[in-house]
Amino acid sequence: MRDIEKLKDFLSQPQDILKKTLESLLCENNYNPISRDGYLYAEGDIPLLLVAHLDTEAEKEAVEKNESRANAVPKKDDIIYDEEMDVVKRAKNANGVLGGDDRCGVYAIMEIIKKYRPSVLFTEDEERGLLGAEKAVIGLRNLKDKYKYIIEIDRRGNGECVFYQCGNIDFINYVTKFGFNWEIGTNSDIALLGRCWNIAATNVSAGYHQEHSIYEYVSMSELEETIKKIEAMIKDIDNVPFYKYMDTLGQSESADFKEYVPTYKYKLKDDKKPLDNGGDE
Ligand SMILES: [Zn+2]
Repeated sequence: MRDIEKLKDFLSQPQDILKKTLESLLCENNYNPISRDGYLYAEGDIPLLLVAHLDTEAEKEAVEKNESRANAVPKKDDIIYDEEMDVVKRAKNANGVLGGDDRCGVYAIMEIIKKYRPSVLFTEDEERGLLGAEKAVIGLRNLKDKYKYIIEIDRRGNGECVFYQCGNIDFINYVTKFGFNWEIGTNSDIALLGRCWNIAATNVSAGYHQEHSIYEYVSMSELEETIKKIEAMIKDIDNVPFYKYMDTLGQSESADFKEYVPTYKYKLKDDKKPLDNGGDE
C-alpha cells in the first residue's frame, strides 16, 4: 500500500540518519542488518540483491563545500504531494533538491520487503563516486555467489532499464520481458558491483525526474509501477539461472576490485546540462 509519509520521511533525512532509520526498519521486518562504513546490508532468503543509494546530489555538494548534510535535505513540511498530478515535489523555498534520486529506490525496496525477502544493500555516497559500493565490493565479496542477479532502483524516469558495460543478452532479454525498455546508462553502483562480482545487474527507473535540480519531482504511479515489475521478477526467481556479468564483447569477465579502474568516473556528471538528465544513472 502507498505510504507517502514514509517517502517524505526518507526524503527529509540526511544519509547518516536515514541509514539508522533503515537499520531499525529492517529489524522490524525480521532482517538482521549489518551496518558498516559505506553501506547497510541485510541478507534475505531469495537469491536476488536489491540496491539503492542513501545519499543525494545536494548532500554531495554540501560535503564538497564543508557544509552540513542535514541542511542539504528538504524539511518534511517542505515536501508536497500534489494529488492532481500524483507527484511528490519540493516547496519553492525548501533546502537543496528533493532527493528522489535515490530515496525512491530506498522507498521501493522497503515496500518490496513487506512482502518478499530479497537481500538488500543500501550504499553511501554514490554521488561522490560510488564510495559505498567500493566498500561493499570488498566487504560483501564472500556473499556474492548467493545472487542470481542484481537490481538497482536508481534510474530516472519510467520503465527503463540500463546495463552499463554488461552485455549478457539473455539477461537483458529477461529483464525487458517485464516491461522495462533497454536504454544506455553511464554509471551507478551496480556497474561496479556487477563487474567485480561477476553477476549480471540492471538499474531500473525509480520514477524521479529532473534529478539533481530544484525542479526534481517523483511520480508515485511510475515508482509503484517499478515496484510491481520487480515483484513479478521476484515471483519468477526460481525459473532463472545465475546470470553472469559479461562485458560488451560477450565474454564472461570478473574484474577483481584490485584491478578495477573507474575510467568513466563522473566525467559525464560534470558535463551535464542543468535541467536535462541531471544524474547519469
Ligand atoms: Zn542516483
